Amino acid sequence: MSNSASAPTATQQAATLLTAAGDVTLVAHVQPDADALGSALALGLALRQRGATVRVSFGAPAQTPESLVGLDVAGLIVPPDQVPARPEVLVALDTASRSRLGCLADRIETADAVLVIDHHATNDRFGTHHLVDVRAEATAVLVLRLIDALEVPLNEPMARCLYAGLVTDTSCFRRADPSTHAVAGRLLAAGVDPEALTRALLDTHPFGWLPMLATVLGRAQLEPTSAQGLGLVHTTVRLADAAGLRGEEIESVVDLVRTTSEAEVAAVLKEIGPDRWSVSLRAKNRIDVSAAAAELGGGGHRLAAGLTADGTADAILDALRTALHNAPRLQAPAL
Ligand code: AMP
Ligand code: MN
Ligand code: MN
Repeated sequence: MSNSASAPTATQQAATLLTAAGDVTLVAHVQPDADALGSALALGLALRQRGATVRVSFGAPAQTPESLVGLDVAGLIVPPDQVPARPEVLVALDTASRSRLGCLADRIETADAVLVIDHHATNDRFGTHHLVDVRAEATAVLVLRLIDALEVPLNEPMARCLYAGLVTDTSCFRRADPSTHAVAGRLLAAGVDPEALTRALLDTHPFGWLPMLATVLGRAQLEPTSAQGLGLVHTTVRLADAAGLRGEEIESVVDLVRTTSEAEVAAVLKEIGPDRWSVSLRAKNRIDVSAAAAELGGGGHRLAAGLTADGTADAILDALRTALHNAPRLQAPAL
C-alpha cells in the first residue's frame, strides 16, 4: 500500500538504495537457516536479474548446510574470504545484531552502506538503512515485498528460496495468518514444489539421527516448577552424541522436546566446544523467551530464541532458570 504523497516506506528506501548499487554483498547470520540463506539468495537472484554483481556469504560454517544447497541454483554463495574488504552495499538478512555475522561483522564498518532486513524483536538496527518489521513471520516476507518494489518478476528459483524461509520460520504454517498464506500462494503459483522442498529441508536425516535422538531424548528432564511454575523441559546434545551428524540433525532436537505438554518452555543445550554451548529456547505462548535469551547475551523471537554461553551445562541451566523466572509473561497467544 503505497501513498505517493507520504514519506517513502522502508521498503521503497531499500529499493532505491539497491537500484543504485552496481555491486551488492548479501550476508546471512552464522549457522544460516532457510530464512537467512533463502532470503539472501532470493534477493541476490533478483538483483542479478537487474544487472548488479552479487554474492552471498555467511561467517560460519565453512560449508553450506546440506539441506540448503539446493537453493543456490545460480552458485551465488562464496566463502567469507571472497567477500570484498570494502563492500559497496552490504545487505544483512535475518540478523538481529552485528555479532551474528561472525567473521563478516567487520564489513559493517567498511561498507559504503549497510541495509538490514530482519524480523527479530531484538534487532538493534546496526545498519545505515533498515527494513525491519517484527510483525513479519519471516525475513522472506520482507524480501518478497522488496522484490516487488524492485519490479523484478518472481521466478521459481527466487520463490523456492522464499518458500524455504517461510515454511521453516512459521513451523510449517502453524503460525500463519491469511496474509502469510497469500504469500505462500504466490510462491506456489511461481512453481515451487512444496513436497520436494520440505522433504529436503525438514524430512531427511541419516539413520544415525535415530540413535542420537534416543540418547538425547532419554536424558531430557522435566522441571514443573521452573519457568514461573509453567514448566521447563531441557536436555543436552554433547559433541559425542552429534559425532558424524549434520547441524540439521542437532537443530531438529528442540522441535521434539518442545512438544512436551507439561512444559511451557523447552531448552536444548548444544555443546559446541569445551564448556561452550549454543542454547535453543522455545515457548508455547505464555513466556517471552527472547527476553530470557537477551538477558544471557542472546536474542531471537518471543517464542523462539537462542544464545551462546560459556560454562558447564549445569551453570548455564541455573542462569537460564533465573532468566526464565524474570522473563515477561505474554498475555495473548503471540506470533
Ligand atoms: P535456534 O534455536 O538456533 O533455531 O534460534 C532461534 C532464534 O534465536 C533465531 O531467531 C535466532 O536468530 C536466535 N538466536 C539463536 N542463537 C542466537 C545467539 N547466539 N544470539 C542471538 N540470537 C540467537
Ligand atoms: Mn534465522
Ligand atoms: Mn527468520
